[in-house]
Amino acid sequence: MTLSRSLRQCVFTAALIASAFLIPALPAAAEPVTVSLMHINDLDRIEESKGKGGIARVMALVQQERARADTVIFTHGGDTISPSLLSSFDKGAHMIDLYNEAELDLLVMGNHEFDFGPEVAKQRVSEARFTVLASNSRDSDGEPLDGTAATWMAEAGPYKIGFFGLTTPETADISSPGTVTFEPLLQSARDYSQQLRDEGADLVVAVAHTGVEEDLMLMRADSGIDILMSGHDHLLVTYYDGQRAFIESGSQGEQLVVVDVTLNTVESRGQQRFVWEPAFRIVDSRSVEPDAAMAAKVQVYLDRLSEELDVPIGTALTALDSRRASVRGGETAIGNLITDAMRQGVEADVALTNGGGIRGDKTYDAGITLTRRDIQTELPFGNKTVKLELTGAQLMQALEHGFSKVEEGAGRFPSVSGMTVTWSRSAPAGQRVRSVTVGGKLLDPEASYTLATNDFVARGGDGYAVFTEAVPLIDGISARLMATMVMDFVAATGEVSPKVEGRVTAVD
Ligand SMILES: [Zn+2]
Repeated sequence: MTLSRSLRQCVFTAALIASAFLIPALPAAAEPVTVSLMHINDLDRIEESKGKGGIARVMALVQQERARADTVIFTHGGDTISPSLLSSFDKGAHMIDLYNEAELDLLVMGNHEFDFGPEVAKQRVSEARFTVLASNSRDSDGEPLDGTAATWMAEAGPYKIGFFGLTTPETADISSPGTVTFEPLLQSARDYSQQLRDEGADLVVAVAHTGVEEDLMLMRADSGIDILMSGHDHLLVTYYDGQRAFIESGSQGEQLVVVDVTLNTVESRGQQRFVWEPAFRIVDSRSVEPDAAMAAKVQVYLDRLSEELDVPIGTALTALDSRRASVRGGETAIGNLITDAMRQGVEADVALTNGGGIRGDKTYDAGITLTRRDIQTELPFGNKTVKLELTGAQLMQALEHGFSKVEEGAGRFPSVSGMTVTWSRSAPAGQRVRSVTVGGKLLDPEASYTLATNDFVARGGDGYAVFTEAVPLIDGISARLMATMVMDFVAATGEVSPKVEGRVTAVD
């Protein structure tokens, strides 16, 4: 830690020694100590976008803080080794490398840290030169995930700040943690807060990757947490009720919340009592120039990404056609390939994606070698594959919507997997679907189905408002990239042969 901080510790120790010989009340004269907790969360994009965010700007902000404050603790609220395109090549190793460089202090495991399974998660943890917290995770031996810490103690002057980490138990449903399980949040928070206080912590901080409802629950219940530094929702939050504080720093390092915590000892009724108070600052990454050394490292990774995109991943044995009029007017082999990969990727009953999201606008001859760049060119928007639960009636409504503006070549036209649809081109919009089968059986309006689709239409994009009424099982912030899913699907077998096979058939 810094020189000035250790000097201050010496001053305090001297005061204590003096007090033994002079006046017993002297410790009250200990000067207050300020610690800056600087937090990022949900950062998987290493480069800046529109002049904000990215790791080089974060680095500049961290250096600025380290220059101005005695003690800075730099924390990360999780979701970082996935789902970027770069992570589909190195399973997130580049992120750990960059955080090692930035001298991150603490990272909590988010759901995305389990996207490549528990073994990769442990591998990434082993590469970190900082502490990784996963206090409520349980590996097969009943202990927190291998290589992670359950707690971490920092000292600032005479004070101790205890940290532990929480990962949303939802991770079991929205990622791939394998046999790793997650203990309930409130009980874990109580247990670890108590443990830290027993070990002498004056202040207890939870670094958490939990949803905002879970955050508020932890604030309102008697969780033992003084300061909660969270992630997962991509929200910019500062919350303080006079007793507890909760913050979250948006996403991608665009705006960071810093909590300057003043730690002090006051005398009340003849007793020495510890008190703390937070002051919040929001630091904007647009206010600094990117750190040059970090920007150079980022560029090395971006160059590597560009090379990796040109690596062949498999052969298309059949011809593919992603021309605009094709994907917005009827069934295509490439649309079938994409939706098959999406359906398999999230294990859904059916899949649907909008033609407007397939952008290559070209044809591929049968037998062509596909590269990752081909897939990236077809799916350039960074859309993710979400999983929804909806009724047969809602699915029918979505399909009607999909066929409603085919005359205009609208982007809403659906490619599907797991179902067959016949529709009438001449019928009025909204009454075009003739029949739908799912898994060979007629669609039941009352039954519920799971659907893989992209996060854009799931938010109501291209007019798919009906999807906003469905139950999200994997939402946009928990999902993996569509493009990565298709690359993995092609690479898994090395040969694909999608064809137009009567999934979407126009009659009259
Ligand atoms: Zn998350």
